[in-house]
Amino acid sequence: MRTTTGWRATGPTTLRRTPLERRDLRADDIAVRVDYCGVCHSDLHALRDHDRHAEAPLVPGHEFTGVVTETGPAVTAFSAGDRVAVGNIVDSCGVCAMCEAGQENFCHSFPTLTYGGTDRRDGSATLGGYSREYVVRDAFAYPLPAGLDPAAAAPLLCAGVTVWEPLRSLGVGPGSRVAVAGLGGLGHLAVKMAVALGATTTVVSRTRDKYEDARRLGAHDLIASTDAGQMAAARDTFDVVVDTVSAPHDLAPYLKLVAMDGTLSLLGYLGPVTVEAMDLLVGRKKLSSAGSAGRPATAGMLRFCADHGITADVEVLPSAQVETALDRLRRNDVRYRFVLDMSDLD
Ligand code: NAP
Ligand code: ZN
Repeated sequence: MRTTTGWRATGPTTLRRTPLERRDLRADDIAVRVDYCGVCHSDLHALRDHDRHAEAPLVPGHEFTGVVTETGPAVTAFSAGDRVAVGNIVDSCGVCAMCEAGQENFCHSFPTLTYGGTDRRDGSATLGGYSREYVVRDAFAYPLPAGLDPAAAAPLLCAGVTVWEPLRSLGVGPGSRVAVAGLGGLGHLAVKMAVALGATTTVVSRTRDKYEDARRLGAHDLIASTDAGQMAAARDTFDVVVDTVSAPHDLAPYLKLVAMDGTLSLLGYLGPVTVEAMDLLVGRKKLSSAGSAGRPATAGMLRFCADHGITADVEVLPSAQVETALDRLRRNDVRYRFVLDMSDLD
């Protein structure tokens, strides 16, 4: 075993700096010095839901960038010193139809999650990127393209891929009309990507407060979801509505925004939902969802972002301020992603 240092949950809002074990490198592993790790709203959900009496510690963090420090003997794609990025899945079976299709995120035997998962070879609990070192199978690390700032690129690996795959699979391109509901970590990247894909893009936010930001991100307009008049005026006008709202909410007002034969892609709230069939029937609308991305799409997303200069708008904090970051994220006080600088763990 190798040891590193990281932030382990001690309660729903508290974490403690602690030594952590990482596995010795397998033939196809690389060791990554984690430099920057994004703080995803999913980390809040994980902390809230974590059983404090569980045997496995919870170390969140599933979007990070860093530098390769060591490689296993079978690794050919990376060398020590390479800049890499790791997202929210770190392994899959590799042989099922989904893996064969490059959709490792939908692996029939469930992809191995970066944290809160179970390593498929030794059964150990996976511990996330709120730490100084991560050991990962080479196939699930991605070269970080030159030109992408490593702190601002970290959120691309969860927030970015999560919105990228549905935008691509739903055919968003020049002429598409896209609405992005919830302007947070996922939402602001969805806006940047949809705009870069050529779509006319509108933000749907609870208030008008983020109007200037929405415009700066390239959106054409912002609709306040709490303004019935604005919502009614936008009825049936979007080919794709990307819903990144983190809390449970009524889908009906968002389905009303979807144009004939268009799609509401539910990405943010992943619990049970209730839908009136009539809200789909009128306009032959589709309800869809997505999560993470396969390896080819993740690599493609990074290339696209490098080509278009897309990274997250980040506020970088020393990792010692992780509780502040989580608390402010909970209160929606971030524009638009916290990233932890892990160098204070040395
Ligand atoms: P975030 O930065 O907190 O953004 C969420 C946004 O949702 C907020 O900025 C806010 O936008 C809106 N919102 C929050 N509470 C709301 C409420 N009560 N009613 C209406 N709108 C509300 O979170 P994030 O990191 O982007 O993550 C968003 C969600 O996606 C989380 O639930 C997360 O767990 C989930 N997620 C899913 C996947 C996946 O694989 N599908 C991957 C990553 C994250 P406005 O201020 O503009 O209204
Ligand atoms: Zn995430």
